[in-house]
Amino acid sequence: MCEQLMKLLFLTMGFQFSINLLVDAIPLSNSVLYKDSDPIVQMNVADFKSTIMATSNAWLIEFYSSWCGHCIDFAPAFIQLANDVKGWEKVIKVGAVDCAKDENIPLCRDFEIMGYPTIKFFPAFTDATQLGVARTGSKKVDSIRFSMIDYIEQQFVEKKAPPHWPLLGPLQNETIDDLWSHYNNNEIILLFEAVDNSKYWSREAIMDAHQYAPHYPPIRRVNAMRQDLITKYNVRSLPAFVFLERTGKSEVYQVQPDREYMKKIMRKFFDSENEAAVVIPKSTHTTREPHVVHEDVKPAKDVVYMADLEGALLYAFGHEVSIHKLIAGKELTALKKLIDVLDRYFPGRTGMKETIHTLRRNLENYKKQIGGEEFAELWRNALNGRETNQEWVGCRGSRPNFRGYPCGLWTTFHTLTVSYALKHPDDSEVDPALVLQAMKGFIKYFFGCAHCSNHFIDMAEDELNPIESVKSPRQAVLWLWAAHNKVNRRIASDASEDPKAPKIQFPASHNCPECRVDGVEREEAVYDYLVKLYSSEHINSTGLLVQTFPARSGSSRIQSLPLGTLSFTSYDISLCAAIYLVSSLILMLVLCRILVKRRRFVRKQVYDVCGKLM
Ligand SMILES: Cc1cc2nc3c(=O)[nH]c(=O)nc-3n(C[C@H](O)[C@H](O)[C@H](O)COP(=O)(O)OP(=O)(O)OC[C@H]3O[C@@H](n4cnc5c(N)ncnc54)[C@H](O)[C@@H]3O)c2cc1C
Repeated sequence: MCEQLMKLLFLTMGFQFSINLLVDAIPLSNSVLYKDSDPIVQMNVADFKSTIMATSNAWLIEFYSSWCGHCIDFAPAFIQLANDVKGWEKVIKVGAVDCAKDENIPLCRDFEIMGYPTIKFFPAFTDATQLGVARTGSKKVDSIRFSMIDYIEQQFVEKKAPPHWPLLGPLQNETIDDLWSHYNNNEIILLFEAVDNSKYWSREAIMDAHQYAPHYPPIRRVNAMRQDLITKYNVRSLPAFVFLERTGKSEVYQVQPDREYMKKIMRKFFDSENEAAVVIPKSTHTTREPHVVHEDVKPAKDVVYMADLEGALLYAFGHEVSIHKLIAGKELTALKKLIDVLDRYFPGRTGMKETIHTLRRNLENYKKQIGGEEFAELWRNALNGRETNQEWVGCRGSRPNFRGYPCGLWTTFHTLTVSYALKHPDDSEVDPALVLQAMKGFIKYFFGCAHCSNHFIDMAEDELNPIESVKSPRQAVLWLWAAHNKVNRRIASDASEDPKAPKIQFPASHNCPECRVDGVEREEAVYDYLVKLYSSEHINSTGLLVQTFPARSGSSRIQSLPLGTLSFTSYDISLCAAIYLVSSLILMLVLCRILVKRRRFVRKQVYDVCGKLM
């Protein structure tokens, strides 16, 4: 009996532990933008360097973050691009790294990825010291494809192109005899270009055909300056396609300067001779299938959850700041400012407040700079073993790449502006824009979504309504509300919008009918609504992680502990759990003792020959 009770206790503990392990295994953000079937080589910290260093092709690599709205919006175009240049793989491949994954922090830090999405080129057989060449400019598929061609040409200029790459430059002084002695093939194609040869169609044709090498003949460009060849092959109008045979035979075709047209021409030409040539990959726009769909999403009623606020801080410090190689100068000042504001106004649980306070104190020792890795260590020490994999509650999206961190960040800053306004209702001594300035600094230097950051800074520095124009903490609350609404309006219906949480002009009229009357916003009512929603006593604690025994590996989920006046730290809860366990053990021991005593007592009873108790 005693043995069975003990077994039961250990089984219960084991179950609790397995649940904790399961919870621990759920990452804060998943990489879900690309499928394995997309022609994108997905790499991580373990295989990135070994993969790109060992290849004779160059690389175009997107460093992205699965929560970043612009990365989500850009993903279909990137997939389209990868399909579009699938045939170029012998020369250049397309890859991707998800910097939102914790394990990739060192990789993204080493390659100095400061904003998402960042696209970088890497040469063939790159070495570990090369950080790659960042590509800026339009994110349109054509534009990126053209820049891939430019990069390949640049590799020839820098003499880094391996010998098997096709020559993209036009013939210079070479004669046709030179070509026959250079190539072993029995056919060569010359692409005669019009005077304006700045277009990419001929270089794309060379790249598209190269996938079939050596079965396909080499293609060389000839520009309009080579009058000798134009005359020799009787080319009457440009552009043209001249098919040469080693025997001296030649045929001239008129062509259109267009990639798709050229693909068709070349396919037709080699259809009968080479089966492979027919299989030219189509550029397709893939519709994304959701990988995981959460069944339940946040109800329409506005609720602020502490789990979202803590989740945002955990990701902001543990990931966004820690991913920096070096934090110095203005970046360090901005970081300290934010931590200072959090230390004074974050209405969190004692445990998180202690963490922030410790972080602030320890960061004071760094006057000029701190490395990202060192900051990560400070953060871990400040956390002191507290749980770090908080799940999103209100900010949980209907798919893992929706909502999450940016939602948590907005929520945190709204909460801070409200907390500040409530602490300094009529205080003319305080800086009214303190929280907004701290937010601006963080968004400018640390928020990974590069476009979001630029847009926000534009708003913060907008001549007509900069954050400096804010005259009171109350106005700061309203400034942020209005700024957030501008973003909502701009990105409504983008691919990054969660269909289960459409971008609206906040608050929804059913939540606050008095906030908008006849389509006109009433700031008085909006302010009251925001204060009520974001003030500490209304913050909901559903889904918060608390620590159980043992401190580091165990965790459990609590439902709605009232915050505000009564706050429970993870230490408090751990203590309760420990007391519970010890009490259960004592109870078990007492029960065992009673059972043993009873048995002895029964054995000691003496009976007479008639079976009667003596
Ligand atoms: C500073 C910043 C700038 C951004 N810029 C861009 C950008 O340029 N392009 C882009 O694609 N994405 C941008 N994002 C991300 C984007 O705004 C959303 O955060 C993301 O799409 C997730 O949206 P969501 O549905 O969770 O709601 P979010 O917009 O993140 O809102 C979170 C919660 O805040 C509340 N809320 C909404 N509006 C208001 C308001 N006006 N006032 C007070 N509370 C409100 C709601 O309860 C909502 O659930 C930005 C994020 C931040 C933090």
